[in-house]
Amino acid sequence: KKVLIVGGVAGGASAAARLRRLDETAEIILFERDEYISFANCGLPYYIGETIKDRNKLLVQTPEAMKARFNIDVRNNSEVISIDAKNKKVAVKSKTKGTYEESYDYLILSPGGKAIRPNIPGINSEKIFTLRNIPDTDIIKAYVDKKGINHAVVIGGGFIGVEMAENLRDRGLNVTLVEAAPHILAPFDPDMVVMAEKELVENGIGLILGDGVKSFEEIGNQVQIALGSNTKINADIIILAIGVSPDTGFLKESGLAFGPKGHIIVNEKMETNLEGVYAVGDAIEVVDFITKQKTAIALAGPANKQGRIAADNVAGLNATYKGTQGSSILKIFGLTAASTGANERTLQRANMLYQVIYVHPVSHASYYPGAIPMSLKLIFNEEGRVLGAQGIGYDGVDKRIDVIATAIRFNGTVDDLAELELSYAPPFSSAKDPVNMAGFVAQ
Ligand code: FAD
Repeated sequence: KKVLIVGGVAGGASAAARLRRLDETAEIILFERDEYISFANCGLPYYIGETIKDRNKLLVQTPEAMKARFNIDVRNNSEVISIDAKNKKVAVKSKTKGTYEESYDYLILSPGGKAIRPNIPGINSEKIFTLRNIPDTDIIKAYVDKKGINHAVVIGGGFIGVEMAENLRDRGLNVTLVEAAPHILAPFDPDMVVMAEKELVENGIGLILGDGVKSFEEIGNQVQIALGSNTKINADIIILAIGVSPDTGFLKESGLAFGPKGHIIVNEKMETNLEGVYAVGDAIEVVDFITKQKTAIALAGPANKQGRIAADNVAGLNATYKGTQGSSILKIFGLTAASTGANERTLQRANMLYQVIYVHPVSHASYYPGAIPMSLKLIFNEEGRVLGAQGIGYDGVDKRIDVIATAIRFNGTVDDLAELELSYAPPFSSAKDPVNMAGFVAQ
């Protein structure tokens, strides 16, 4: 059995390692366009911010280690430029070996998503950066390290934008975050996200909401950013983080079926419409676990799980992916913001009825030092089934959202949340945990 994998990071590397564990004899070749495989994308902002100091720590696996440990033929600096599904082969452009073909029995695609660069005036300025991989990180870090870089503008208030704003502030820069929507962090509803916005402002981030970028113009050593409202801001460095689009250009002529925004369409076994071809990760369309509608969610956990499932199926097991619920979490200076499942906006769009409750319990027993209130929002339907939750606070938010995420996965109800028996001693929680409290109030 000969298996080719395209993309050597979250989905691709997971698929390769899992497949080797299931099949000792398969020939596995992993193609990665860049130099690095299996690096820690999620750690990149924290390396730029110097919380992670050692660059080597970002490199989780090397091609040599993948070969030694898993006997996987890793070909980095090797871009797959097209696939010929009829004859079951791909064309590869290697930096050192020129262009050649490779045949397959099975093909797993995990090419990920690329940062969106809208076609607006001045977008090609060399002072506008996007962040996806190690080379991007090196370039941004070297730039920030230069003398005279004082003001950064981050465009886009998604996870990467907010993390970059915080990390550049940590490096001592003046930072302005610009978001075109009325609020940052789309997974949260406005009533919750205002706390995150306040935390940014209190930590010295200039926040501009509801104002999109119209154009960029280099003036002297700076770039002037003109916003829709005609506000103008000057920046020494601009980080553009307005989302990702599937990196599937090389597949256009392949015969693969794509969704409306260019994501690869797969079934629950991660199979595409082409025989023997699987796809996973940020490049695919998934089913929303709550609304059951088609969507695309760029997160590392789902990419890893899908990679594993594709490998299981290539190895002859019968594994299925049951949908993405979008559990996510973010550090905003001292604050934690986490969410799982659907928010009000998603449910309204899907025409689903729901109810909402809020609780503001303390993170652990109030008489034990350090107890701080958190805000939890719980969304559920008429039958009490939990549809989503959002939490913001300084301590213990991660645990509560993860407990609720687990309940959602098992189709849990507000009664289940009330009944859950969770670990308790005063330094950690209360006899009625915040998750129980949310269940009580919702019952
Ligand atoms: P990728 O990890 O992007 O890997 C795709 C790889 O395929 C790339 O290396 C690319 O070079 C290669 N490739 C593409 N086309 C070809 C081709 N034709 N031939 C050969 N190789 C090709 N998610 C979270 O859940 N939590 C976080 O905290 C978080 N933080 C993030 C921070 C940053 C800065 C970034 C950029 C992402 C973050 N993510 C986070 C998202 C997460 O990293 C992605 O969801 C995940 O990496 C997707 O995995 P993937 O395998 O689909 O794509």
